[in-house]
Amino acid sequence: MSSTPEPKEVKACMVCKATGDDRVLLCGEHREKKVWVCVRCLPMLIHGEH
Ligand SMILES: [Zn+2]
Repeated sequence: MSSTPEPKEVKACMVCKATGDDRVLLCGEHREKKVWVCVRCLPMLIHGEH
């Protein structure tokens, strides 16, 4: 078993880095990678980043 060490999953908003302690985090997928985004940044993502 010589698998490369996987980076620990960081539960923090991928936009503002807020953690689940600060706000509600939602789990999503981006380019087949699991991502977290908080409810405050979600509308921004829905409307598209600048
Ligand atoms: Zn956020």
